[in-house]
Amino acid sequence: MRDLTKLSVLFILFFTQNSFGHRGENDGHERLSDPVRIDQALEELELNNRVKENTLCEDVANCLLEKQAAMTELATQMSVVTEYISRLMEDEELKQNQDRLKELLQQCRDISTEDQVAELVAKIDNTHWIHGSEDCNVNADPEIQVERIGMGLSIMRQNKCLTAEAPFLYILESEDKVVLIDTGDIYEGSELYNQVQAIAGDREIVVTHTHAHGDHTGGDNSFSKKENCQLHSTGIENNKEMFGIENWPDDIGTFDMGDRELQIIPVPGHERSSIAIYDPQSKVMLTGDIMYPGRLYINNYPDFLSSLDRLKEFSEENEVSAYLGGHVEMSNEPGEDIGFGNYAPNERSLVLRNSDLDQLYDAAYKNSDSRDNVTLDQFIIYP
Ligand SMILES: [Zn+2]
Ligand SMILES: [Zn+2]
Repeated sequence: MRDLTKLSVLFILFFTQNSFGHRGENDGHERLSDPVRIDQALEELELNNRVKENTLCEDVANCLLEKQAAMTELATQMSVVTEYISRLMEDEELKQNQDRLKELLQQCRDISTEDQVAELVAKIDNTHWIHGSEDCNVNADPEIQVERIGMGLSIMRQNKCLTAEAPFLYILESEDKVVLIDTGDIYEGSELYNQVQAIAGDREIVVTHTHAHGDHTGGDNSFSKKENCQLHSTGIENNKEMFGIENWPDDIGTFDMGDRELQIIPVPGHERSSIAIYDPQSKVMLTGDIMYPGRLYINNYPDFLSSLDRLKEFSEENEVSAYLGGHVEMSNEPGEDIGFGNYAPNERSLVLRNSDLDQLYDAAYKNSDSRDNVTLDQFIIYP
């Protein structure tokens, strides 16, 4: 969107219309995009073009435009920004406003309404994943299933006929970066790079990992020598450096996506350098193998407990829409292990929620002395 002046008028128009009564969202859309009305308003307001030169201002306007589907709820924030944009038009010193604009841009980008997030989680919940075949010789599924979920989140699943682990891989996108989280279990001849490249286009690809196990780092080689790729190495020291974590595992790190900061929570216990990644846009927490619907293999029990503490504490301070892990190993029947193999026709959903974390937390603490295998609805604790 280049014509910022038009955009600004569009916002002003929206609020002028909106202030005269409550209308349906679709109705508003139609009237807003009517070119005659916008042009008329442009003429009436005799706007100058200075504001076009301010790209931050344009970013704010673009961000708001993207979010207009949820306009009723956003009306308050929008009115603040709209008023600001109109003030800018009369301002002699646009440069002085850069900081305030940056702040507004961040505020706008942080907006993801409850409805949007709920819709996103429902979409993940209802996604039908490839799950292998009884006879893998006749399996016609792709090597990797790619689902563009929305809000900058894509989820990939590797074919269970090619890897019994069938891990889930994640992509988080921003305007200038595409972050791939885990590279899966397939070492040779994988299509993964091409799939990620197709999503990335000319954006930089950053590859990072939830942890160092082979079923999450298998495809690393295909990214290591590519010019547009930055491949993070695994391990505690690398994590500390990459995400600015001073005190491992107590501090929370960050990763700058340009338009938002991912939160990086150290979660050792399954593997010593494990991290969970929280995206403030979609509000999903990517948990790798520390928490997924399945057999939770624990390598260090005290670490596991304190990692659950950190996840719980984080979820009390931040909205987490869903926990998405590296595998699914439970069936639709609560407490039923799907077993090993290349075929899993009745897998349960990938989505875990705060209530599942609570259940795991309580059971893991109760089990801290005896350290037995404990079967819960969505998990089997395997100390
Ligand atoms: Zn693992
Ligand atoms: Zn794994």
